[in-house]
Parts: sequence; C-alpha cells; structure tokens
Amino acid sequence: MKAVCWMGTGKVEVHNVDDPKILNPQDAIIKITRTAICGSDLHLYDGYIPSMESGDILGHEFMGIVEEVGSEVKKLKRGDRVVIPFTIACGNCFFCKKDLWSCCDNSNPNAHVAEEMYGYSGSALFGYSHIYGGYAGGQAQYARVPFADVGPIKIENDLPDEKVLFLSDIFPTGYQAAVNANIEPGDTVAVWGAGPVGLFTIASAYMLGAGKVIAIDRFPERLALARDYCGATTLDYSDGKSVVEALRDLSFGAGPDSCIDAVGMEAHGTDVAATYDKVKQALMMETDRPTVLRQAIQSVRKGGTISIPGVYGGTLDKVNFGAAFGKGVIMKMGQTNMHSYLQPLLERVEQGQIDPSFLISHRVGIEQVPEMYKIWRDKKDNVTKIVIDPW
Ligand code: NAD
Ligand code: ZN
Repeated sequence: MKAVCWMGTGKVEVHNVDDPKILNPQDAIIKITRTAICGSDLHLYDGYIPSMESGDILGHEFMGIVEEVGSEVKKLKRGDRVVIPFTIACGNCFFCKKDLWSCCDNSNPNAHVAEEMYGYSGSALFGYSHIYGGYAGGQAQYARVPFADVGPIKIENDLPDEKVLFLSDIFPTGYQAAVNANIEPGDTVAVWGAGPVGLFTIASAYMLGAGKVIAIDRFPERLALARDYCGATTLDYSDGKSVVEALRDLSFGAGPDSCIDAVGMEAHGTDVAATYDKVKQALMMETDRPTVLRQAIQSVRKGGTISIPGVYGGTLDKVNFGAAFGKGVIMKMGQTNMHSYLQPLLERVEQGQIDPSFLISHRVGIEQVPEMYKIWRDKKDNVTKIVIDPW
C-alpha cells in the first residue's frame, strides 16, 4: 500500500510499504477512505517529539471501511463504515473505566520508556512516535486498529466522509476543551489559536452556552472562519497591541471567565532537532518568551478557568504560576478522552447542529501530501484544514 512516512525532521515522503496484518485477535484492518493532517503532526514534522524512526507512518485522523477483523472482535464486521479515535484505549483498565481514556494503562507497550524519559505516560496514539506506542498511522491506504471493539464508531447514515471524519480528533478535542473550560450560560471565553482545534473549541463553547467567544490568531483566513462561521469576536495578536488589555476591554475589565490555549508548543518556535538529547534539552529549557499560557493566566478573571488542549512537552514553559495561584485559577488539560465524545458528537452532526466540514481548505491525493506538510507548517495558501483521499 501507499503510506506517508516520516523520514526525519522536516522530511515526509510517500512510500510503498507492506499492508498491515491482524497481529492480535482484537485487531481490525481498515481500508482508509479519508484522512487528514493535524496541528499535532507538526510537532513530529518539526522534531519536537522524540523516538520517531525513519519510515514511521504518520497520521491519526482517519476513517474508512472495515476490511478484516480478528477472531475476538464482536462489534465490527467486514464492510462496516467507521471513524477511528486517535487515542488507543483498552476499555478495561482503571483509567478507561473512569472515562480517562487518554490515560489508558494497557494500550502503550512503550509506556515504560515514556516514564523513564518524562516521568509520565499516556495511552497509545496512532502515528505518533514510539513513546506513544509505535503504532502505524492513518495517512495511508490501510491501518491496523487495535482494541477494535472499543475505539471505532460505526457510521450508519449517508453523511459524506468529510462531515464525520473530524470525529477522529479535532471536533472532540475542541469540545473537550470547551467542557474543561467550565462554561456557564452567558460567559465570556477567550480562545488562543483559530486553527482546527481552536475553531471547534469556539463552536463547542457556543454549544455549551457561552455568551461571547473571542478568537485570537494572526491569520486572516482563520480569523474569518472564527468570525463568520463560528460567530466569534476576533483579535489579531500581531497588530502590536496587548492581547491581555484587549481581552480585559472585551470583558468589562475583569478578564474572560475562561481562557483556552488551543496553540500549545508552536508558540515557542524553539528550534530543536529530533534527537533524544536535543529534544530532552529543549524540553527542560526554561524560556521567558511570552507564551499563550502566560497570557491566559494574566488575562483570566479571578476564579476563572484555563483549559489547555494545545500540546506541551516536558518543562518548556516558564509559567507565571504565582499569578495563577493568586487568582485562584482552575486549570484542566490533556490529551482528549476521545471515547467519551464520539457518539454524542456524531449525534450533533446527524441533527445538523454543526457541519464539521466548514474548515476544509485543501482536498488532495496521497502523492501531494509531502508538499502539503510544508504548506501546513508555514500556514501558506490560506490553509485551514487538509483532507486526503489516499486512493
Ligand atoms: P494549527 O497549528 O493549525 O493551529 C494553531 C494556531 O495557533 C495557528 O492558527 C496559529 O496562527 C495560532 N497561534 C500561534 N501562536 C499564537 C499566539 N501567540 N496567539 C494566538 N494564536 C497563535 O494546529 P491545530 O490543529 O489547531 O492544533 C492546535 C494545538 O492543539 C496543537 O498544539 C495540537 O498539537 C493540539 N492538539 C491537541 C489535542 C489533544 O488531544 N489535546 C488533539 C489535537 C490537537
Ligand atoms: Zn490530531
């Protein structure tokens, strides 16, 4: 099959590789009909995540048709149409049973390596390095999906792929970001980053009753989607004015009730190479750059909530923690507990509450993907989301 492979920092190529096989009786093989590139893939592309190996198959946002199932799979059969959550969870451990699916203790065979490097480990992820389990990703024609009775949800309607594909990551991620922000009816919510995660966060914040959502970014096409499709008030952080002051002005001087960081590590622009030592060094390094997280702590009203869907690694940030303490701030963050949200959000799509395809700017074949990674990283060509038909 054809697959998009990571070949080193800044280097992505399409290769012919072996088709995946059932390795465990709980596996399914999926023939992928649509897949996408995520902001999280940029952390791999830019070399922020250690333990990538040359030839690793990228991609964690995908859907398709069940091609084959292992002998113990009960819920799926050949021919079923499914969306796959990007986190892999066993469904049976202490954490899965507590709905903390992204903390699953059984899906990541390399959890001990992550524990050694960072002092923590999470669930496995598709296409996301060996410390996250080393599973091949979904920017390919086929993928092996472990715990096939636990993660995939069946799509039994005739909605086109583009309307359900983003249940694989960015819609649930934006939704959990809004849930974690403790939004009460009429609240003012600030969202840093109007990328795909930020846009779904804004849409979800309104679904959960926010009165005003303020989107912060610098790309006009992203701010336009935030404003015109999602209904947000927009701030361009590159205009030289203070974001913190602008947010106070937009929230009666007190600061937003909730501040959401849908940017993550990108805000640092740290230049690191993909070697263990350098990444480790960079992740341990303190920086005094004004990060989104620092602005969120400065801006949020006393007793307000900060929600962080943006991805961070190690101890990169010099965070103004004293201010967070002094203001009695609540903070929630982490990898999305995908499995909790797929079904309820599918119902919202079926009921027409949202058309998740609103942000797609590029539709490409698999051969164009290496070029797309460059465009995606540099945010050129008015790119807001790239969808791939691997056939
Ligand atoms: P993206 O790179 O397309 O979007 C990030 C946006 O942030 C860009 O539009 C950029 O202009 C903006 N930005 C950069 N610096 C900023 C600043 N100082 N102030 C305001 N905006 C700024 O990525 P995405 O796909 O939207 O993903 C966003 C983040 O969410 C990434 O860190 C990604 O890894 C993370 N993510 C997390 C999960 C999870 O499970 N928690 C899942 C998916 C993605
Ligand atoms: Zn993603």
